[in-house]
Amino acid sequence: MPVAAADIAALPTPGFLIGGTKVTAADGPLHEHRYAANGEITQLVPLGTAREVDLAVAAARKAFLTWGRMPANERRIHMLRFATLIREKTDSLRRMMTAENGTPWTASANSPQWVAELFEYNAGWADKIGGEVVSTFPGPAFDYTLDEPYGVIAVIVPWNGPFVSFGQTLAPALAAGNTVVIKPPELAPYSCLMLGELALEAGIPEGVINVVPAGPEGGEALVRHRGVDKIHFTGSGATARKIIAASLENLTPYGLELGGKSARLVFADSDPSTAIRNAIGSAIGLSGQACICGSRVLVEKSIYENFVADCQAAIEQIRPGDPSLPDTFMGPVISQGAVDRILGFVDRAQASGQRLVTGGRRLGGDLANGYFVAPTIFADVDPDADVARNEVFGPILSFIPFEDEAHAIQLANDSDFGLAAYIESENVKRVHRVSAALEAGTVWINGFHDLPVGAPFGGYKQSGVGHVGGKWGINEFSRTKNVWMRL
Ligand code: NAD
Repeated sequence: MPVAAADIAALPTPGFLIGGTKVTAADGPLHEHRYAANGEITQLVPLGTAREVDLAVAAARKAFLTWGRMPANERRIHMLRFATLIREKTDSLRRMMTAENGTPWTASANSPQWVAELFEYNAGWADKIGGEVVSTFPGPAFDYTLDEPYGVIAVIVPWNGPFVSFGQTLAPALAAGNTVVIKPPELAPYSCLMLGELALEAGIPEGVINVVPAGPEGGEALVRHRGVDKIHFTGSGATARKIIAASLENLTPYGLELGGKSARLVFADSDPSTAIRNAIGSAIGLSGQACICGSRVLVEKSIYENFVADCQAAIEQIRPGDPSLPDTFMGPVISQGAVDRILGFVDRAQASGQRLVTGGRRLGGDLANGYFVAPTIFADVDPDADVARNEVFGPILSFIPFEDEAHAIQLANDSDFGLAAYIESENVKRVHRVSAALEAGTVWINGFHDLPVGAPFGGYKQSGVGHVGGKWGINEFSRTKNVWMRL
């Protein structure tokens, strides 16, 4: 499959953005970044080490002296200009996303607009952050709070959504007056560089956003750095555990946005065509590489067999292919390593007796050089099976029947994760009753993945600590001081 030349041409030169300067040479290792649709190298990406991390943290500390003290209305204006530039660059940003991690062109349609919206929404908060007067008794005294920035935030993002994670974390962090060192991974270094360069073009001062693409070594140097005031990590639970351990050294506070194994509860009183479209869109879109993908599909027994058959028919219509084409719904997964990991889940599921309905293999032919896995359904899955309990991060749906509402809730909550949950039902009382009973940070009813920029997003249980989004995101990146005065 030919690489879309325009996609590759749109990629920024790899390197580091430190204190407003792009550094393209480094002593550290080089990573061969590959276009997931054909496995060809796009560019060699230098990876940051403790040296680049030191320089970036120093630049962010210096910039905090001005950004943190800048009149809030000026911060707001800078952020609004940045949002405007993001909107203007929509097409080139979308091409970059396809080349970076194989995001289908169709799937990125709303991403630049959403990230611009995040900056606009949070810009609106910049000049409204203040504090409260606290009642004092017996007094006489005057007591008030000040909501202040932390200082330098270390932001670590995953390969599957660096563009969106940039917006979700940096918009509130900057609005609250912090400066940032953001570390994208080697598999997807381009979004953050491109957005960092756009921010400079928009007039956001040098050093407010520093970008250091790196692997685990650079990430570890960043989270251990004494100049970092808060860590915000988006990624897997396995890495989160290492980050928490590293944060102990300086007792650095952290926020965590982690993985999930989200359940979709399909009741017999749901609208069938909506329920099928949502089940497939949520779990197969982005080839299942979304933290919130609804990969555990729990279906009421009376409609179970038909629902599985209808989903099978719909999935077998999907033609995975070139993600840069305007009609491709499903593209590749990120890498050879991802293909191996996903097929490992398939092998273990089959070995443990789960019923493979469709898919379960790598795609060949003209897709053979890319990292394509067929959309896959397992049915009658044992709720304790590996494929039903662990995050696959690939296009695999596990179907499990349930008897009644109580059984559905019990199956849904029987998970270490609690990122999202989905309900398909036309019964208005049921959907609110079940939403309240589900242990998940977000519940989508008769839909999936729509998230207003004013809404909180965060995980229950092993899916995270803290929130981004809305006023909750501003709180995540502000700390509160109390001031008391004798009258
Ligand atoms: P990952 O945990 O392997 O890597 C995430 C980031 O951590 C990368 O930038 C990586 O380079 C860095 N890293 C790795 N080791 C490190 C270390 N020792 N110290 C510091 N940094 C280190 O995750 P991934 O494979 O890139 O992403 C997929 C995971 O992210 C999935 O679990 C997915 O559910 C999760 N995710 C969560 C959300 C959310 O908002 N909740 C969003 C997207 C992805």
